[in-house]
Parts: sequence; structure tokens; C-alpha cells
Amino acid sequence: MRPGTGTLKLTTFRRRIDAFVHWANTEADRCGLTGETIPPDPLGNIGTARFRRSLAWHIARRPNGLVALAIQYGHLRTAISGAYASRGRGGIHELIDIETVRAVADTVADVHDDLQAGRGVSGPAARRAIKASATAPRFAGTVITATTAKRLLVNEDAIIYDNPHALLLCHYKRGTALCHRDGVKDAPSLDHCVPGCGNIVRTDRHAIQLRERANALDRAASHVPQPVGTRLRANADRLRAHADTHDRTRITLPEDAP
Ligand code: SF4
Repeated sequence: MRPGTGTLKLTTFRRRIDAFVHWANTEADRCGLTGETIPPDPLGNIGTARFRRSLAWHIARRPNGLVALAIQYGHLRTAISGAYASRGRGGIHELIDIETVRAVADTVADVHDDLQAGRGVSGPAARRAIKASATAPRFAGTVITATTAKRLLVNEDAIIYDNPHALLLCHYKRGTALCHRDGVKDAPSLDHCVPGCGNIVRTDRHAIQLRERANALDRAASHVPQPVGTRLRANADRLRAHADTHDRTRITLPEDAP
């Protein structure tokens, strides 16, 4: 520990990761959630490198992950030794790029499989998404390194972000994005998604989820004071309207598509 700074040595940091893993596994056992246990690492105890990879995985699959990164990693950088932090800054960004591209590959593969199974997509970017889904086999055969991740992330035609919070996919194009009008950015602000954006795509799964969420809101509305209930029901109606629009406007692959 550096005197007076409160920073942690790597050994202390590793001990805390071990203690966290022990606590998480004990809780998982206690609750009977065996699928939630953290498996042992074949290479030994979970060290800071695996912890960073796990952190990057979670950040890449959360809306606005880069902001979460800034908060989390900014904290980590002050919490662990200077040498590790100075080596880590470039590294964590590369890990985030790699995990983001892996998450995108999963999303593109899902769209591809849905379309092949006869399901439909809707929204202003639906046709673009159909084209992008044709790149799914390309993702499947690609080893994602920091270099390939960087290259793929600037290819607007290939990148589709999942936005489970807003129940849609974002086929991001900077020029049509409504979530950051005040400045040009390289990635969407998924937690500030704006209805009516030209990058929105919805699938049949989203239509189902929209109706499920609407039903949950209606149920919640009957247990709260009337003004709040009225707002919840209005939100439920809005979600059902999105689902109805999807059903009316969805397009599918032509019969003879490859
Ligand atoms: S507003 Fe548009 S660009 Fe931004 S997250 Fe939503 S769909 Fe994507």
C-alpha cells in the first residue's frame, strides 16, 4: 500500500477477488442456484487478468457500457497499484472492444437465425439489418482480436447492438442516431434511446417481450395509487402499439433467399 493513498497491492486485490468468489459461491449454494456458481479457473485462482476479462464481458453487454467502464475502471485504477493501472488502461479498452464485437456477433447470429426460421423484422433499419445478418457466417469464422475488433467496430454496415432495455436492436449509423444530437460519437447511447430513431429494428421476439412487459405494467398499475397507475397503463398501451406496428410492418426473407 502506498503510504497515505489507500491504494491496494495486487496481493490484497487478489485476496479480495478470492473472498468475493467464495461469498458468491456460498450464496449460490444456499439459494440452490447451482448454475450461478463461479467455476474454478483451470489456470489457478482468479487473478486480476481474468477479473478484467469478466468485467469487460459484463460491461459490453450492458447498455451504455462505456460509461459503466469509466465509472468502474476509474475506480479500479485508483484502487490498485500504479504499475498495474498504467499497463491496464490500453488493455481494458481492447478487452471492451473484443467483448463488444463478441456481443454484436451473438446479436447478428440471432437475427440471422430468426430470419432463416421465417421470423420477421420491422423498423426503419429493418432492411439494413437483413443485409447485416448475412454477415453472420463471417463473424462465426473470425477470431476476434483487438485488431479485428477495432476494424469491425468502425464498419457501420456490420454492427447491430442489442438494446434489451428498450426492447429493440440498434443498427447504428452516426448520421441518423437521435440519442446524441449534441455531439458525434462512435457508439450509440443505448440507455438514451429515442423512439422514432432511424436506426431501430425490432424482431418477432421483441413484439412478444413488448406485450409481456405491457401486461406486467398493467398488473403493477392495479396495486399503486391512481395517478401512477394511469401512467403505467399509458406506458403499457405505448408498448402494445409498438408490438402492433411490428406485426403490421414486419418483413421476412424472400422464399428463395440463401
Ligand atoms: S436512438 Fe437510435 S442510435 Fe441511439 S440507441 Fe436508439 S436506435 Fe440506437
